[in-house]
Amino acid sequence: MDKKTPLNSLRGVGPKNAQRLGKLGLQCVEDVLFHLPLRYQDRTRVVPIGCLRAGDQAAIEGVIELAQIRLGRRRSLLVQFTDGTGSILLRFFHFTSAQRNALQPGVRLRCFGEARNGPASLELVHPDYRRLDERAPQAVEENLTPVYPSTEGLHQLAWRDITGQALGLLQRDELSLPELIPSEFLAAQGFPSLKEALLFMHRPPPDVPMSTLDEGNIPARNRLVFEELLAHQLSLRLLRRKQRGKSAPPLRGDGRLQQRLLSRLPFALTQAQQRVVEEIAADLVSNHPMLRLVQGDVGCGKTLVAVIAALQAIEAGFQAALMAPTELLAEQHVRNLSGWLVPLGVEPGYLSSRSKGTARREQLARLAGGECRLVVGTHALFQEEVAFHALGLVIIDEQHRFGVHQRLALHEKGRAAELPHQLVMTATPIPRTLAMTAYADLDLSVIDELPPGRTPVRTVALPDNRRDEVVARVAKACLGGRQAYWVCTLIEESEALQCQAAEETAAGLALALPELCIGLVHGRLKAVEKEAVMARFKAGEVHLLVATTVIEVGVDVPNASLMIIENPERLGLAQLHQLRGRVGRGSVESHCLLLYHSPLGENARTRLEVMRETNDGFVVARKDLELRGPGEVLGTRQTGLAQMRIADLLRDQAWIPLAQAAADRLLDQYPEQAGRLIDRWVGNRLDYGRV
Ligand code: ADP
Ligand code: MG
Repeated sequence: MDKKTPLNSLRGVGPKNAQRLGKLGLQCVEDVLFHLPLRYQDRTRVVPIGCLRAGDQAAIEGVIELAQIRLGRRRSLLVQFTDGTGSILLRFFHFTSAQRNALQPGVRLRCFGEARNGPASLELVHPDYRRLDERAPQAVEENLTPVYPSTEGLHQLAWRDITGQALGLLQRDELSLPELIPSEFLAAQGFPSLKEALLFMHRPPPDVPMSTLDEGNIPARNRLVFEELLAHQLSLRLLRRKQRGKSAPPLRGDGRLQQRLLSRLPFALTQAQQRVVEEIAADLVSNHPMLRLVQGDVGCGKTLVAVIAALQAIEAGFQAALMAPTELLAEQHVRNLSGWLVPLGVEPGYLSSRSKGTARREQLARLAGGECRLVVGTHALFQEEVAFHALGLVIIDEQHRFGVHQRLALHEKGRAAELPHQLVMTATPIPRTLAMTAYADLDLSVIDELPPGRTPVRTVALPDNRRDEVVARVAKACLGGRQAYWVCTLIEESEALQCQAAEETAAGLALALPELCIGLVHGRLKAVEKEAVMARFKAGEVHLLVATTVIEVGVDVPNASLMIIENPERLGLAQLHQLRGRVGRGSVESHCLLLYHSPLGENARTRLEVMRETNDGFVVARKDLELRGPGEVLGTRQTGLAQMRIADLLRDQAWIPLAQAAADRLLDQYPEQAGRLIDRWVGNRLDYGRV
């Protein structure tokens, strides 16, 4: 791999600054050059003061007319400044006495700052300024001035010095930054070389319009974005090749169990389900492991698709494991699956971290002996002591809750030389280009259709001073034979507090609604207790279920057609959409009431608006991306996708397909380059080697 140049080879970078740079992930001089300016300032031209408008960032030159200290709410130093074309006020809230003494009438200055409207005239607040000496005129800057994203203790002047030195080393070819992109690729896109691109980004020439730089669509930047995306694609490609290179048991079923299941269902598969079932079936007969992600909005029927895949494994004489992110969801899966499968002679097993004693030992024995052909569980399934007789298929529900490593750990549970096939399901739809990057190690299937007969959920936002009205509405709906959820949210991540809040809400609602039967579920109840409440809710005996966000995923009670979410402003869009997905599962029209607390912040207001306007998970996901950014939405933990340094997955989406195509060619034709690109951009941040 290419050698790195240590940070202390730069003047002025001792242990302290090295530590500060380290905080930004910069470990060597090469890294420093990939730390690009956030924006630029034009100090190359001096602007006549008379031409300035509020909002302009500009360099001006002139002479001090008057300087005085204004006492008031905030003591400040006010300097009246003119160049003959106009005058402007320089305002300083912090100043030393030396500064005060230096800024005297008659003194000439060059200043840089952003003009804004003050109480009486245009002002520059805390401008950068330098005293001008008429006998030795100073040249203006030759390049646009870069402004770097920084960390405490590193000023822009230091940044300019550090990057200036690094660029010097680059120009003298003293860094290990070889061109790694083959010239045919560069030529095809009209990209500059790496060296040119870096020089341009750090010190753009003055003739480039600022608007072009701000917009960011420039070959120099695009080239770096492309290189970074390419490196990520390469690393994921290798991860994938490595996995595909392993063997897996071909799961050839005779279709007998599947047929029996389908013929007993009161409905037919949707076309989208049918298509995805076929995609999976084709993967499963291969002797290389399937790695497939199924995306589909809440309620589209992913569970059934998973069960059909599981039956194929079972028919072929193998075991299948279904892993859910919460106990509640795992328990519900067992219940639903039992309804479908027990008549076929397949009894689902269950394993969670709360399974204890004899029950647990027996379950483990049935897995190891192979009598248990389908097991449902939580992350407890991939603990070391769990051994399978012949695990052929691993299904992971609601992928966004699990990390890549957990996924891989379950993978290891196959027979020594063979990996099980893997199916991952998520209701957090992300745009296809993003999915291709975030989950590039997986193939993608999309269920883009809801079962027929669903009526869209109507969502309303109400301030919580109308709580009484809402309570009355709950009473009316429940007495009319419907069922409702009441979801409690809490800011703190404290489960204990959240459960307590839910308990209090349930008690309060029980007082207000004595005619209703109210149930309560939260994360601290024992499994049997939760199970009992859910069973009663499902049976229609409980009218109103008060719950914490534990019901967010997967819970399925079609008769529940009203959901109240308290303090929805505390939740993100994805979570709100998931919660809302618990209603709208039957044929009556469902309602979701967002009972918010005023005043709403701007972002929270937007989130609630999105919820009111759309039921479409893809639209919600796109909005969520805009509001939170891909890093947050995808989460490095979930995807193994390290934070990008230059590329912005949302803004630079258009380059992703190109980077993908280039990745394939590079791996075939320039494999050595591929390794070095990964090393440069991804390094050990993405654990692609440890699969
Ligand atoms: P999700 O994709 O959110 O996991 P589920 O698998 O929980 O959705 O399915 C939601 C509900 O839709 C379940 O009650 C399921 O039985 C039902 N369902 C699944 N497929 C169909 C279909 N093709 N037609 C009608 N109902 C279906
Ligand atoms: Mg589900």
